[in-house]
Amino acid sequence: MRFAKLVDYLAKLEATTKRLEMTHILADLFKEASEEDIAPIIYLTQERLGPAFAPIDFGIGEALAAEALAKASGKDKDAIKKLYKQHGDYGLVAEKLISDDAKKLTVAQVFERLKQIATTSGEGTVATKTDLLAELLGKVSGREARYVLRIPLGRLRLGIGDPTVMEGLSWSKTGDKTLRPQIERAYNVCSDLGKVAHIFKTEGVDALAKISVAVGNPVRMALAERAKNAEDIVTRLGKCAIESKFDGFRCQVHKQGASVRIFSRNLEETTAMFTDIAEGIRTQIRAQTAILEGEALSYDPETDEFHPFQVTMQRKRKYDLEEMTVKFPLRLVAFDLLYLDGKDLTGEGYAARHATLAQLIAPGERVQIAQHLVTQDAKEIEKYFMQAITGGLEGIMAKRLDSRYQAGARNFNWIKLKRSYQGHLSDTVDGVVVGYLRGRGMRARFGIGALLVAVYDAKQDKFATIAKIGTGFSDAEWLQMRELLDPIKTEHRHARVDAVLAPDVWVEPRYVIEMQADEITRSPIHTAGKIGDEPGYALRFPRVKGFIRADKKPEDATTVGEILKMFEKQGKAMRNDK
Ligand code: ATP
Repeated sequence: MRFAKLVDYLAKLEATTKRLEMTHILADLFKEASEEDIAPIIYLTQERLGPAFAPIDFGIGEALAAEALAKASGKDKDAIKKLYKQHGDYGLVAEKLISDDAKKLTVAQVFERLKQIATTSGEGTVATKTDLLAELLGKVSGREARYVLRIPLGRLRLGIGDPTVMEGLSWSKTGDKTLRPQIERAYNVCSDLGKVAHIFKTEGVDALAKISVAVGNPVRMALAERAKNAEDIVTRLGKCAIESKFDGFRCQVHKQGASVRIFSRNLEETTAMFTDIAEGIRTQIRAQTAILEGEALSYDPETDEFHPFQVTMQRKRKYDLEEMTVKFPLRLVAFDLLYLDGKDLTGEGYAARHATLAQLIAPGERVQIAQHLVTQDAKEIEKYFMQAITGGLEGIMAKRLDSRYQAGARNFNWIKLKRSYQGHLSDTVDGVVVGYLRGRGMRARFGIGALLVAVYDAKQDKFATIAKIGTGFSDAEWLQMRELLDPIKTEHRHARVDAVLAPDVWVEPRYVIEMQADEITRSPIHTAGKIGDEPGYALRFPRVKGFIRADKKPEDATTVGEILKMFEKQGKAMRNDK
């Protein structure tokens, strides 16, 4: 496919905020794409060069883009900076400066060139990247140049999430969304939409069934539902396994001989940060190949006790890694096994997977099995819960004994029961920042005083607002927040955001924050769960806990569905209190 053709589709996508329309446009694009082009097209529309778990950083910042544009257009840098001030987008500046002669580059050629730029390293990297980009800009038309720059600069802002791509793929074959479940299963298992789309296009939907768990390919993680109390757990699961709920970093560990890779909750690779866990896996796991999951926690080697989360958090750094490893060593409390020596175990029951895992772990400092109690007695569960709380833990996890590992799913196979605080919702809500209000009073000097926050509406693949939040950050954090948000400002409401309230500044939905609140109320000014003229749902007295949750993508925020369940549970709890 000609790159110019892809640009036609990108322009059409840009012109709409309606999800169904986007799905149809994508379906046409996927239909027209050749077998070779489909994966690159999917990566490019998501501003990437591969799946999210293998990020190839474009390495193209605004300064480099300006320099390349100067070279390609023959204009001096001051003139370019002036235009940028006017338009606020290098894509538009490029369109103005590059001539509109018809050019013939293909999608594959543009993709390869961007990849070449991204993988250039060594001495003189910046100069080489600039030359390569300038050369590419010289080979495209002005209209194409707009997207050639927007893609690596992360400025496409099309509002296409994974669910919309998956639905687009289904529509491209059947004219409806009936194939979405098969597509989604394959995606959950391999976390690579480009790969899924390629197989779907070349071999058809049935071939997707052959995508199975593979070492080195992170699996989208299974997630837990919430319970109100121990009885609720027994009613739902009957006899089940009760484990402590450890508050650290969720790790999915892939072992292939001596090579070990670790992925976080949102499938980012964290191997470099957690070298001590990797070493522990090499020495303590008696398997050639394995995929296991657990929670990594910092502990005190003197007392052998785990530290609270605030201490473990110190390990989330990109610098002083060695010093941190010595100061705050980590231990992995392993709870699940997905793959072992050539065999996919995700279809087996939890109890069997856990028992096999326990056998695999040799004694040592770095890895231990998550102990569990198998019971159907609510009183015993209650006791376990109280012990966990007294020990400073967050609560417990109950697991259905015969449940298979369901990649990417949140359901009652796993149930979390967390301690509740007086006057607090028993769980926190993870929200996505979609805008901010300029500060008044004390915060006027920061230029930011409150955030407009949304939850994820998974059905519509949109972000619906739930709170305006101005409590919980320190002065320094407000300033930091503003530094993070200003580069992702948008002129209008982002296509994926649903809101009645308009903040002073809209931003791209990118950062997730954790909020504590007193309760969930109905509210006409928020759109979470809003249907027609009915009011939506809002957080009462929200306050931020911690700073940004770097381990969550916007789509990992709390969903509208979860909010509705929390609202319902809160109603029941109140009725029980009376
Ligand atoms: P979620 O991951 O469900 O979106 P969250 O990140 O807010 O939610 P919690 O709701 O507090 O986290 O709990 C789920 C997390 O608890 C898991 O993702 C995992 O990291 C952690 N966890 C701790 N102990 C266990 C355990 N024994 N089994 C499974 N997960 C556990």
